[in-house]
Amino acid sequence: MDRKVRVRFAPSPTGPLHIGGVRTALYNYLFAKQNNGEFIFRIEDTDSTRFVPGAEEYIIESFKWLGIKFDEGVGIGGEYGPYRQSERKDIYKKYVQQLLDAGKAYYAFDTPQELDAKRAEIENFQYDAHTRSQMRNSLTLPKEEVDKLISEGAQYVVRFKIEPGIDVHVNDIIRGDVNINSSILDDKVLYKSADGLPTYHLANIVDDHLMKVSHVIRGEEWLPSAPLHVLLYEAFGWQDTMPQFAHLPLLLKPVGNGKLSKRDGDKLGFPVFPLEWHDPKSGEVSSGYREKGYQPEAVVNFLALLGWNPGNDQEILSMDELIQLFNLSKCSKNGARFDYVKGIWFNHQYLLKKPAAEWVPEFDHILKAEGIESTPEKEAQVVEMMKMKVIEYQDNLGNKKKRNISFVSDLWPLTKFFFQAPQTYDKDDKFVKKNWKETTAMEMDELAGVLSAIDDFTIDNIKEMVEAWVEARDIKPWNAWRVCLVGTGQGPDMYELAAFLGKEETIRRMDNAIKALK
Ligand code: GLU
Repeated sequence: MDRKVRVRFAPSPTGPLHIGGVRTALYNYLFAKQNNGEFIFRIEDTDSTRFVPGAEEYIIESFKWLGIKFDEGVGIGGEYGPYRQSERKDIYKKYVQQLLDAGKAYYAFDTPQELDAKRAEIENFQYDAHTRSQMRNSLTLPKEEVDKLISEGAQYVVRFKIEPGIDVHVNDIIRGDVNINSSILDDKVLYKSADGLPTYHLANIVDDHLMKVSHVIRGEEWLPSAPLHVLLYEAFGWQDTMPQFAHLPLLLKPVGNGKLSKRDGDKLGFPVFPLEWHDPKSGEVSSGYREKGYQPEAVVNFLALLGWNPGNDQEILSMDELIQLFNLSKCSKNGARFDYVKGIWFNHQYLLKKPAAEWVPEFDHILKAEGIESTPEKEAQVVEMMKMKVIEYQDNLGNKKKRNISFVSDLWPLTKFFFQAPQTYDKDDKFVKKNWKETTAMEMDELAGVLSAIDDFTIDNIKEMVEAWVEARDIKPWNAWRVCLVGTGQGPDMYELAAFLGKEETIRRMDNAIKALK
């Protein structure tokens, strides 16, 4: 059957969007675009006890930042709205009634206390074909009593009546035929009179049907619900338009076993949320990829390859390339290890693609916070000189490591000296010790003289004059000169640095060093 591809991302607004949810949305988006289909954004907010204010707005802002666009849904509109489930109450009522009328669902009046008592009495109690006859429901109570209870306003739930002993097949694009026996399923609650709202299972199925969803692409954690969903489609008589399922592999911890959690991120120092999240209740702040200085394109590229790859060793893929190459049926069944170090590498790659001018706003912001005023031109020059450097850092486990510049914020510790003259000169610094000798002060004094004679203080002119002097004197002044201008053994090419600082500042720093290191 050829149907228009319509997929959906259907989060529950219970908090910030986990990075695994972002990957799910991305795969839906890629699949939709590749098939000229439509991508729906639905909010599944029928569990009012878990509702968190601000979560919906957070999710919308996350996708805006990442460049993942929806065609219809909350905040956009479309012919199948409303797209927020809490606004669809009346729609669900009708479908709950349809199942009740067909004898495929029933009323259950058991109180929480009665259910607890049963659980205490029967080990691993499950409300199903074996036990429902012992409970207070419309299958065991006389019809008059059921009607009376309802008309008196007694609280009830509607449960799905699952026939035992049926082989249920979930045809999954990634996992193939997943087969379970209906006897292991319980009679799931579909609707609660207390709030007049359906549960996730009913609302999800009804909406996927009404919104003409062709493929349900979601995380592996929903696979256990899939057989129930198949049975619900059949109970409604919608089996011919049932969406095709694809349950994506889990994201796994960077080290060790099990699925990726926020604690892994906290421990190893990487975000598990796209944007920073301020918990409205606890006030706790969780870090986000955006605020950490990641490029959205890098995050997209990194996530796209967690569970799928193009089958060759191409790693840098734009959104357009991903749309072309993505293949849902080639997604892995096995969990994908969340290699956050690789995420940093992707950011390095994408940052380097950007011209220096595009680094400037963020760099300028960092400099301002350090009390430094500079110009965009100067800042761009510094970026150009330093972007290929390697930084040393300590990871969260205390190991000393090196990596390429991967964030604009990596620049500051490496570039301080461009904007601030060394405050002190440390005689005990290894580099200073090694390169500042008896004769150095005199040589630096001479070099300062050479520099002061240069009128147009450009890289080329400095180079020419200094090299002529070096040749005549037969000395190697580079490291000592570096000590003067930087204070230690860091920084770019000395001619570039001197030209950047200008004649006056260069000579001033040399004089200071000569005095301090005498
Ligand atoms: N509301 C579910 C969630 O929070 C949707 C699961 C599904 O895609 O069916 O992820």
